[in-house]
Amino acid sequence: MTATARIALNRPLRRLFDYQIPDGCRIKPGQRVQIPFGRQFATGLVVDTNVTPPANIQLKPLKRALEPWPALPAETLKLLTWAANYYQHPLGESLFMALPPALRRGQPAALPKETFWRLSGREHSLPKQAHRQQALLDWLASEGKPQATRDVLAAGFSRSQLKGLAGKELVTECEPPERTDSDPLTSPLPPLTEAQQLAFAKLPPVDGKFHCTLLYGVTGSGKTELYLHYLQNNLTADDQALVLVPEINLTPQTVARFRRYFGDRIEVWHSALNDGQRLATWLRIREGKPVIVIGTRSAVLLPFIKLQTLIVDEEHDSSYKQGEGFRYSGRDLAVFRGHLNQCPVILGSATPSLESYANTQNGKYGLARLEQRVGSATAPEVRLLDIRSRPLEGGVSQPALSAIRRCLDSGQQALVFVNRRGYAPVMMCFDCGHLMECPDCDSRLTYHQRDRALRCHHCDYQQAAPTVCPSCQSEAFKPIGQGTERTEDTLTSLFPDVPVIRVDRDSTQRKGSIQSILERVNSGDPCILVGTQMLAKGHDFPKVTLVVVVNADGGLFSVDFRAPEQLIQTLLQVSGRAGRSRDPGTVLVQTCHSDHPLLNSLQQGRYLDIAQQLLTEREAAQLPPFRPMAIIRAEAPEMSESLAFLDQIRNTLTQDALEVWGPLPALIARKAKRHRAQLVVLCEQRRGIREALKAACQQAEQLRTGRDFRWQIDVDPQETA
Ligand code: ADP
Ligand code: ZN
Ligand code: ZN
Repeated sequence: MTATARIALNRPLRRLFDYQIPDGCRIKPGQRVQIPFGRQFATGLVVDTNVTPPANIQLKPLKRALEPWPALPAETLKLLTWAANYYQHPLGESLFMALPPALRRGQPAALPKETFWRLSGREHSLPKQAHRQQALLDWLASEGKPQATRDVLAAGFSRSQLKGLAGKELVTECEPPERTDSDPLTSPLPPLTEAQQLAFAKLPPVDGKFHCTLLYGVTGSGKTELYLHYLQNNLTADDQALVLVPEINLTPQTVARFRRYFGDRIEVWHSALNDGQRLATWLRIREGKPVIVIGTRSAVLLPFIKLQTLIVDEEHDSSYKQGEGFRYSGRDLAVFRGHLNQCPVILGSATPSLESYANTQNGKYGLARLEQRVGSATAPEVRLLDIRSRPLEGGVSQPALSAIRRCLDSGQQALVFVNRRGYAPVMMCFDCGHLMECPDCDSRLTYHQRDRALRCHHCDYQQAAPTVCPSCQSEAFKPIGQGTERTEDTLTSLFPDVPVIRVDRDSTQRKGSIQSILERVNSGDPCILVGTQMLAKGHDFPKVTLVVVVNADGGLFSVDFRAPEQLIQTLLQVSGRAGRSRDPGTVLVQTCHSDHPLLNSLQQGRYLDIAQQLLTEREAAQLPPFRPMAIIRAEAPEMSESLAFLDQIRNTLTQDALEVWGPLPALIARKAKRHRAQLVVLCEQRRGIREALKAACQQAEQLRTGRDFRWQIDVDPQETA
């Protein structure tokens, strides 16, 4: 019998391809191969070997293995196979997600050879005019180890200077310097506080078994410190570890803290790396170097072979769920990876997801509580400020403005949270009522005053802002409501003596801008920070003692069943920026619904009590996590096409255990000219929903659809409207 291999391609196909393995070629699952495909060659990943192909088919031989070892080690292959099945995503596309871009394209799994340079040690005297060459020699001497050409150029020298020195035999090419993989601790960790020690004792044991523990630690309680101690205590010099974080760029301080203790052992992984950096990091991990990777969502797919610990920081954060294509949850895959690996997993948060909290109650996860802030810091006091019929300036009420004044006068910093970027969310004519809407979406255009533009926050559409009403030419055409720019402007004119620093997607677009903002804030001088969710994420601002939430009402009456959970998480996270050091913090929450039960429980402050309440409501409605949910979405140039497609899919979802809602138009029914509809599927058991969805996918593949039609499945959706 001839040897065969089943191969996945990086294409949106729900099928695999069988090939013959040529004699003398040894092929293992997970290996990259080159195969003839159509009239070209393609890069494939071997999923299985010795498969039985359909009878009477003459298989083509594959061309060659791209390297003799599996690019996807067994465990990574298992993880992705499981995930493709769980999230109903084509296996090939899912597997290729675990390769760095260069390897997806079929390039060699090796770093391009770099030339390194060192001083030759020859005596010399350079002519006076060669001062740049002299500077280069001095620089090489001061660096103390060989430098790559790339680094020489990056330091401001030129190739011709390098060549000049090489010609005089003052520098010579050499091997790259040894990289130290396990630096000893570069600086000692501070001892854990008593409360931290108690929580530490509840973290999962490292005993070659899977354990998952939810670390509920209030903001400022020192969760990061616990992670550092946990890794230091439990990792051997050989082990690999993974620390998932929501967004690295927003919290450079965290990486710096890990580097301080683990030095070169730390590798980062995030979307801003270039292809070369990705390949280099990926290879180190695949080679089994004892790295500690700090990375965003996709780091969970890296080819670890000695992974001993997984930590997911801010595990509730919605950025762990990929929003398009392969819609996996990095957090959930981390837990599954811990299972595969039989190693501990820590999920940390001050505002755990209801899913994870429920898992501590049904016995699947352990729970470690850390409810005290570090040092003398106490929990901030939360006060609701009813703003019905109160005059507002830039969205901020008089009592809040006075509080900001007092805060600045006492030498502290204030943070003002606005949940929308831009100047104002709407522009309206006060004469005829005309509203500026996006021509391509069912949504209003946001006014951005800095460049006098109207922008859609749901698609790419933008236009210059008209000065008069386009409908009736009235000049009473004005922005309504609050955005970060408007609040920034108002506060700048009311507090001319202190800097007002805006932090949102627009103000942080340039590379490095968030770093320089954080540096300014951490200099400690009085200032006012104005910003969106970005400000709620894990920052440690010791001088902020006042937080003002401009409007808390956004999520109170949403149709999305996750909205109350997300609202409370955001409010508590942003509140958690106040009073992290010696001086106590205050949080003023402006609302038109100060009697709303959710906001009242926020005021009482105990997150787990609120979570318990929300879980009770979810259970009563049999919503996740009590029943798994998936959404099948369709979008087309016409709504009728989207609805008709989903109607047919609905007909296949007939099992008793299923509950199906829809098809219904999505909340924003038209987005970027496409009409969107959805079908919500709930089921009593996981297995049931997986099988039903698999059948639905097969059906969907067979349906005839228009050219511009798209459909997708979202398992465990984060957004359900
Ligand atoms: P969290 O991640 O829970 O919000 P952090 O780990 O950022 O909290 O800790 C908050 C602050 O307290 C940081 O500045 C940190 O350096 C400091 N800190 C935490 N634990 C200790 C400790 N045991 N000793 C001294 N300082 C600590
Ligand atoms: Zn008008
Ligand atoms: Zn739009």
